[in-house]
Amino acid sequence: MADKRDYYEVLGVSKTATDAEIKKAYRVLAKKYHPDSNPGDKEAEAKFKEASEAYAVLSDADKRRQYDQFGHAAFDGGAGGAGAGGFDFNGMDMGDIFGDIFGDLFGGGRSRRSNNGPMKGANVRASVRITFEEACFGVDKEITLNLKEECGTCHGTGAKKGTTPETCQKCHGTGQVVYTQQSFFGMTQSVQPCPDCHGTGKFVKEKCTDCHGSGYITKKKTISVSIPAGIDDGQSIRIQGKGEPGVNGGPRGDLLVEVIVSRHPSFVREDTTIYSSVSISYAMAALGGDLKVKTIDGEVIYTVRPGTQPGTKVRLRGKGVPTLRNKNVRGDHIVTLVVQVPTKLTAEQKEALEHFDALMNGEVKATSATTEEEHKGFFGKKKKR
Ligand SMILES: [Zn+2]
Ligand SMILES: [Zn+2]
Repeated sequence: MADKRDYYEVLGVSKTATDAEIKKAYRVLAKKYHPDSNPGDKEAEAKFKEASEAYAVLSDADKRRQYDQFGHAAFDGGAGGAGAGGFDFNGMDMGDIFGDIFGDLFGGGRSRRSNNGPMKGANVRASVRITFEEACFGVDKEITLNLKEECGTCHGTGAKKGTTPETCQKCHGTGQVVYTQQSFFGMTQSVQPCPDCHGTGKFVKEKCTDCHGSGYITKKKTISVSIPAGIDDGQSIRIQGKGEPGVNGGPRGDLLVEVIVSRHPSFVREDTTIYSSVSISYAMAALGGDLKVKTIDGEVIYTVRPGTQPGTKVRLRGKGVPTLRNKNVRGDHIVTLVVQVPTKLTAEQKEALEHFDALMNGEVKATSATTEEEHKGFFGKKKKR
């Protein structure tokens, strides 16, 4: 005990540190030296124990006062004269410290939840496929799935008709068993679900013949799902209370329906924006004109401006997908205008184009621009290279 470090020094806080500062300092040390993070490391284990001890004292107002007055002697069992038997470290409830400090630090491994209390049932997952337009405007769908229902014969107890479940002998109905073990803190206790009754606290001697003792029967159920406008591929809808039944009177879990949106032949969606492309003739690009454009609201007329360049993007405001929050707020539809170059021309069309070309160049060419030679060259290129 002679070389025992000062508790304030151990935690690295001042003598006037607040409870919050002490707690914070301990959390840092505990995380650093916790045996789970340093398996087999004796030095870390010693540091962890030292910090835990310091924290156990300094976090308790009474013990801290005693320590401030008498130092380590306060807890040496009579030597210092703190009176009343001093402080027995091994006898203190480390569980309280763990619950307090480690509850959110190590994933709640020492949960104290009672295992036979009401528990919400598990969530059930399902999926539904809808069209692109249905995703845009919303739709009601019905899905069929197998859902667990409480057995009507035994009302969920699992016991044969006319019998009732008995109290579990091992845990006396608590659903939990307490294990005491020796560790570097001294004796520690851990609470675990009873292995005999799986935490229910009850034991069924004669099983219900309808549900084979499970307390549940599976039934095919049709559930209507209201899919809101604006839903996107991969998003889920939560339907409360349509999951698995709860345990010990707990509420049912939820049904999570994943929405799968089929691809559209011409529309592509990104958030609330819709993209598509429309072909226009060279003449329309040059001269302008009215163009029919498909949107999710049906066809609309867009007036192409004279001199429109290939690849021009046109924004149709408010023709995109509604937002999930408000179906009246909609994204845009962006249309790319693709100028088509004709591949098959009649003699008359060719002549007109040649005439046009000549006019553009300010002269009329005597012969056709496409010669036999060029054709050969073209096909030759295409064959193998
Ligand atoms: Zn039953
Ligand atoms: Zn039990």
